[in-house]
Amino acid sequence: MTELLLKNIIDSLCWTCTKRIFHFQLFTVTASCENKSYFWIQKYLEEKKLKEHNSKDFQGCGICFGLLEKYSDESFLKELADRVNNCGIQFRDFRISLTASNVSTLREKFIELLLESIPISEISLRLYNPKCLSVKELWKILTFHPLEVIMGKLYNHTSLFDVKTKFTIEDSALEADTRLLDTRSISIPEKKLSKKARLQKEIQEVGFTKPNVDLVIKESNLEKFKKYYTLPFTRTMSNFDLECTHDPIFLAGRYLKFSRILSQTKWIIEGARKFSSSIEEIMGEVLSRELGATGFVFTSSGREDIDVKCLGKGRPFTLEFMEPKRTEFTREELKKYQQLINESTTEMAVKDLQYITREQTKLMRESQENKTKSYSALCYCYSKLDEKDIEKLNSLTRVDLLQQTPIRVLHRRTVMTRSRWISDIQASLIDEHHFKIKMLTQGGTYVKEFVHGDLGRTEPSLCTILNKECDILELDVESVNCDFPPEINYDD
Ligand SMILES: [Zn+2]
Repeated sequence: MTELLLKNIIDSLCWTCTKRIFHFQLFTVTASCENKSYFWIQKYLEEKKLKEHNSKDFQGCGICFGLLEKYSDESFLKELADRVNNCGIQFRDFRISLTASNVSTLREKFIELLLESIPISEISLRLYNPKCLSVKELWKILTFHPLEVIMGKLYNHTSLFDVKTKFTIEDSALEADTRLLDTRSISIPEKKLSKKARLQKEIQEVGFTKPNVDLVIKESNLEKFKKYYTLPFTRTMSNFDLECTHDPIFLAGRYLKFSRILSQTKWIIEGARKFSSSIEEIMGEVLSRELGATGFVFTSSGREDIDVKCLGKGRPFTLEFMEPKRTEFTREELKKYQQLINESTTEMAVKDLQYITREQTKLMRESQENKTKSYSALCYCYSKLDEKDIEKLNSLTRVDLLQQTPIRVLHRRTVMTRSRWISDIQASLIDEHHFKIKMLTQGGTYVKEFVHGDLGRTEPSLCTILNKECDILELDVESVNCDFPPEINYDD
């Protein structure tokens, strides 16, 4: 009985799985002693080895489904490397994701239980390899390093470039396994499960997922396995599929806005767009095209109203690009991208364009919290102004404000009172009703409200300081002062 059982097990496996699952002592010279009980296994194994080596056709495997023979041999790895190198995506190093059926684990447990059930007295050796590696573990060992050598690139588990390998088995080859998996629903009475557990069970029941397979293994003993499985397993091959993708990459920079009718982001009200373009679209579209990306996400350090220009140093932003094909940039290339954007429009410009990592995008959010901004505002005064008024403004070193949420943003902001400061005020008279004022403000200050007072919701304001009614005509952001991203002078 044992002899037939062992032959059936060996006949189910490829040569690599045989060596992996059986105790290594069986394959060593020292083991070929006089003991007749395993002399015949060694002979049988020797025959199998010769047969497999002489056969030109891979026969597949009842456990690894070809992963450890055809799908890890040199010609396959060369073909795989070739496809990866020609996928059209630029990459520095690579990681590998492996999707392979958990049926291997299920079947292997059956083999393990069978081998463990053979009494040591019969064969004088435990036949199951105590250090048996799983199919997935061994596949990684057999392929990762050779791939590095063939591709000339390094494996790095944190790489942004993912080589997704997927091995699937035809449903028709898994009839017995599917029946075994289905016993799960019989073994747990439906009524006893809580709603959450029922939901979880439904999720788990979709095919040979790892939790599903683990549960079947936990609930099954050798007798149960025997009811469903007949040996030898048919030796089969999986189908192979490959997909290469690059994680998103990030570019950062600062933008200048010269137009009072250009919005920062695509502006859509009730399904109709308000303006023909926006800062995010101008930059995002040019760069997506250059990078071969499928989409982009724009983030900026605050925003200005549509009628406000943004000048001087500009406003920091980041752009995230999805599934990019180009992923590494020289200074010259970044300079070229910046020029392409700047030549495509007169309404805005970009500067300091640079590559940043995902981690560095946090720097923009952090520096945003303690940033200051410089503004320049053209104001109108309903009463006549004179130099004394201007002197009064210029004598202010610092103004501490209490600002209730402005009326114009009430519909989208929480009502609260914020304390903010304004300093470095420089006012100049234009004529008896017009004056210009430059100032440095704490991040989050509502500057328009500081000028007109917002019906007393901002205290003090230019109205209360001058005791004259004022309003704002034009506002420009002169600079958003934060350290990130660093300045880059491409004209050097
Ligand atoms: Zn195998």
